[in-house]
Amino acid sequence: MIRFEHVYKTYPEGNEALQDVNLHIDKGEFVFVLGHSGAGKSTFLKLILHEEAATSGKIIVNGFDLTNIKKKRIPYLRRSMGVVFQDFRLIPSMTVYENVAFAMRVTNVKESEIVKRVKYVLSLVGLSHKKDSYPTSLSGGEQQRVALARALAHSPKLIIADEPTGNIDPEMSIEMMELLTAINSVGTTVVVVTHEHDLAHQFNKRIITIDHGTVVGDDHPCKFAKGGRRG
Ligand code: ADP
Repeated sequence: MIRFEHVYKTYPEGNEALQDVNLHIDKGEFVFVLGHSGAGKSTFLKLILHEEAATSGKIIVNGFDLTNIKKKRIPYLRRSMGVVFQDFRLIPSMTVYENVAFAMRVTNVKESEIVKRVKYVLSLVGLSHKKDSYPTSLSGGEQQRVALARALAHSPKLIIADEPTGNIDPEMSIEMMELLTAINSVGTTVVVVTHEHDLAHQFNKRIITIDHGTVVGDDHPCKFAKGGRRG
């Protein structure tokens, strides 16, 4: 799914954001990528989306080798995953329904399929009743769930949630984590990028810790933990 081999990223100003990062996230996993501000999390995400290219090293995402990826392949790479951005990135002039449908219209999906799928993903995130609302009339938690519905619209094998607790209250955060857990349980790989140590440790999931641009920890879930949470 995601493989980093000896990945370095140095920005033009000379900032070394990532140094010799090696990691492998497999199909079906649920992984937290945890790190303080400035640790390199956004850079990690930008490399996965190929918004930035690595300075050196090998990155493979969903079968795409990003080393010499052709420009025309980049939209396919991005469509192979769904990203829930911290600031949601919803289009304010479009209804909830349109925000989700819009993401599907860029592909060649039939309108009748879009209608069905949008209905389904909105029900999945519990927002069927808000389909005609505009993003500004929704709470932060609801906007985030629209962003999740949109990320799920084209049935990606990989969902990435960027700082899911950043712009919503704690109760909503738990709800979002439960939704992500449910999505993972049907086979979708989930990567949650966060600076929140407590959030990552609340669940019995793999935690990859980044500090100053390097992987300093990779803790796998305890097989013998009762329930889903770490005790
Ligand atoms: P995080 O998301 O964990 O806060 P970042 O990946 O944003 O970390 O940043 C890692 C390091 O790279 C920081 O030292 C930051 O200043 C630097 N950095 C990030 N983006 C840029 C950029 N576009 N240009 C120069 N330096 C950058």
